[in-house]
Amino acid sequence: MHLNELQQYVKAWIEEIGETNWTKWNYFSRLVEEVGEVGEQLSLSEGVKRHKSFDKAQLEEELGDILFVLAALSNELGIDLETAFEMMRAKHKRKFGDIDRALTGDR
Ligand SMILES: [Mg+2]
Repeated sequence: MHLNELQQYVKAWIEEIGETNWTKWNYFSRLVEEVGEVGEQLSLSEGVKRHKSFDKAQLEEELGDILFVLAALSNELGIDLETAFEMMRAKHKRKFGDIDRALTGDR
């Protein structure tokens, strides 16, 4: 699934369940919450927290939650994630040189 397909899916899903009254701050706080849930799994994996055992499938699910909420927040803000990702790539190119050519085999 491409990033724009992900954003369209999330938009349709939210409209389908009728959860259309969330603001950017609702999505932002939910994103922070999901990042915290990833942090909890990492703490469990490192043995820093021991109240339950590390669960890689749970970590995977929490990363998926981040993607979902990031897409929802981006939709709310009118941000295209593919454009945002390309902006990040251009920034990396300026900072580190054109390593994309080596990664894509486009020499
Ligand atoms: Mg979660």
